[in-house]
Amino acid sequence: GWIPGTKQNDKTTVQYGAHYDHVGYGTKKTSLGEIGLIHNGADDNASGTSAILELCRHFHKHPPRNNVLVVLWDAEELGLLGSKHFVGDPVFPLENISLAVNVDMIGQLTDGTLEVHGSRTGMGLRSVIANANLDHRIPMEYKGKVVRNSDHYAFLEHKIPALMFHTGLHDRYHRPADDPDTLDYKGATRIVQFLLDFATALDNHNSPFEFRDGSLQDDRAAIRLHETGITDLLDTNGITASYVPGKPSHLRVTNVKNSASRPRNWPTSGAKISTICNIPIDDINGLAGAFQSLLDSPSLTFIPKRSAMRKTIKLQPIENIQIAGAHLISDLGDPRVFYVQQVRKDSSSARMGISQGDTLIPRHTRNTDVLDWLARPKPRNAVFVERNGSILLFK
Ligand SMILES: [Zn+2]
Repeated sequence: GWIPGTKQNDKTTVQYGAHYDHVGYGTKKTSLGEIGLIHNGADDNASGTSAILELCRHFHKHPPRNNVLVVLWDAEELGLLGSKHFVGDPVFPLENISLAVNVDMIGQLTDGTLEVHGSRTGMGLRSVIANANLDHRIPMEYKGKVVRNSDHYAFLEHKIPALMFHTGLHDRYHRPADDPDTLDYKGATRIVQFLLDFATALDNHNSPFEFRDGSLQDDRAAIRLHETGITDLLDTNGITASYVPGKPSHLRVTNVKNSASRPRNWPTSGAKISTICNIPIDDINGLAGAFQSLLDSPSLTFIPKRSAMRKTIKLQPIENIQIAGAHLISDLGDPRVFYVQQVRKDSSSARMGISQGDTLIPRHTRNTDVLDWLARPKPRNAVFVERNGSILLFK
């Protein structure tokens, strides 16, 4: 379906989609339940398909400024065949698609969260999503890792920012029991209302969401290393590292800048970092708690390549943003959004109720810069907080 924008600009198109196929009677490969019974797929994905139809109804009544392209995908369950074909042999110039939004399984919100996949694949998406949720307050879970689990991935492989909204897997998933009477219709309605506001916000957004290189390599651990300041610490000291696959207890050094001019005991490529400031690298909460040490006197313990001897070195401390007693780092996918690394006791940030682990998001209607605002927080509602996925407003 094609809904031309009133701006009549070919270049700005948002693609909305959902897959409408399911697994039929099921096969060994596709069914987790009894094969031979019809698998209706009420949640997977009649729920997402309905959401997209509702979106079409909305745009029919309220014509968008930018073009809207709606595609309901077939053969997702056979390996994203429909969406892969679309991007591989497009009937429409792919470079005109600024964002792809996929809705796959939104019928099981109950008291859980709405998973947002891909929020860091397009720069600036994070705050648009959070702002669109202000009136709905759906608990959100921004996933760190993007996986090839639905049609949005076909777009990501072509460097088009893409999102998926999803309420999670459950014990009726890919079984004959995924039937309409098991869906949370109230939850799905909330999600659709959020999606309509999100679509309106996208339509009013004037700059494209630049694809973020590296976003396909993100995972939860990498995001947490960024938020805890560890990536910054290593970067300050010229060290690049990534997790050893399947071994979250070790970060492997992949590159050392100016290695010739480093002290003799410095790690080299292939070394495994085991602790930072004496905290094991897989203890993310411990690392978050050790933040003050990153500012004062950070240390690093590593096992050199081809050696079993642990070595400990002192590192150069990080320099980071500190305003009103709060240490902040910007979100990997949205420079306007800030994660709170630490709050000094009795500071004005602490008195405002900001705590470690919060995310500070500017209200789009006010065009606020979070850092300016934190230095002089008036009016208070120009910024809001996400804490564990829930929205909190300043009183
Ligand atoms: Zn699905």
